Amino acid sequence: MTEQRRVVYETLMAQADHPTAVEIFMRAKPKMPTISLATVYNCLETLVDCRLIRHVHHDRESARYCANLAEHAHLYCYGCGSVTDLPVRNGRKPEDAWQVPGEVIISQRDVSFRGLCAGCAEKQSAETKDLHQKSTKKSKA
Ligand SMILES: [Zn+2]
Ligand SMILES: [Zn+2]
Repeated sequence: MTEQRRVVYETLMAQADHPTAVEIFMRAKPKMPTISLATVYNCLETLVDCRLIRHVHHDRESARYCANLAEHAHLYCYGCGSVTDLPVRNGRKPEDAWQVPGEVIISQRDVSFRGLCAGCAEKQSAETKDLHQKSTKKSKA
């Protein structure tokens, strides 16, 4: 592995927040001031080809990258735009969840969920409670 690839890989490993190439570039720059965005893109492509990292695509957003190679699904939060890893339950095989005919050959599996992350869900339920309290106060007055 080249020095640049190592820095890109370590930058991605440092935070499990599925950054875009530009975000990785911004984070890698202080560690390696000579690195360019084009180099980051090249390194990411090579790392994907070597299956050390994965592409994460969502709608028309720019590609994000994931260094978690364990089987997992992605939760896309429509509140804050974050992407969270959802691991498979202990001892469960992801194949068990879907009925895949024997003749089918699967080369890639991308399982995704949309919703609210824990932080946004908490915020929303607090706001709902707040609204509820306000409306009950109003009706009493
Ligand atoms: Zn992931
Ligand atoms: Zn969120």
